[in-house]
Amino acid sequence: MDDEQLLRYSRHILLPELGIEGQERLLAARVLIVGAGGLGSPAAIYLAAAGVGGITLCDGDEVDLTNLQRQIAHRQNSIGRPKVLSAKHTLAEINPGVQVAAIRARLEGEALDKQVADAHAVLDCSDNFATRHAINRACVKHAVPLVSGAAIRFDGQISVFDLRDPDSPCYACLFAEDAQSEEMRCAVMGVFAPLTGIIGTMQAAECIKVLTGTGKSLNGRLLILDALSMEWRAMRLRRDPHCKVCAAR
Ligand SMILES: [Zn+2]
Repeated sequence: MDDEQLLRYSRHILLPELGIEGQERLLAARVLIVGAGGLGSPAAIYLAAAGVGGITLCDGDEVDLTNLQRQIAHRQNSIGRPKVLSAKHTLAEINPGVQVAAIRARLEGEALDKQVADAHAVLDCSDNFATRHAINRACVKHAVPLVSGAAIRFDGQISVFDLRDPDSPCYACLFAEDAQSEEMRCAVMGVFAPLTGIIGTMQAAECIKVLTGTGKSLNGRLLILDALSMEWRAMRLRRDPHCKVCAAR
């Protein structure tokens, strides 16, 4: 780290649990963030501010007026621009030392597989089950930690699937791929603006912990938030020995 970095990250370095070593791990880390919307915005902003050295953002959408109520990486003058470019601009204004790669697409197939294989951690900030399961499969395959978040209406949830650990459950142990889950979309259901900030920010926190080995992550636990009562519930997650995605690993 040069003098400017020592100053910029001094409040992390002062934390004995992180220190110079932890900060250097962050600077050397590459994180994939799938989705540059309500969850991806705060997650990317905190990871960039905290000095995660490489951030790959992917999202195929453009910024829309209805996004600005919660997707805080975007600005009024970004309406109509690709979300990944709008977010990249915001991150560069906060921390020009971070390398941000913007992929303007919904990552699938081999492209997703390659990006996951190159990452030290993946943040699922997407909004649909097909993408969530595709990300999970790739993370299981490459043993990359997955930080999963979701937010709709007043309901949030977050968990970590630290797939470096052979005993860790995967996302499909919790939500089977063939389950008939009802897709709930912000476009029709509504979403409480700060909820995406709460969950996305927690995804950034868990990501930093996983990358640096600090503290105890949410691996094996699912936190569920009811923002109307602001009550959290914690569920223990176990690996499903018959899981179609991770049982054979
Ligand atoms: Zn599984």
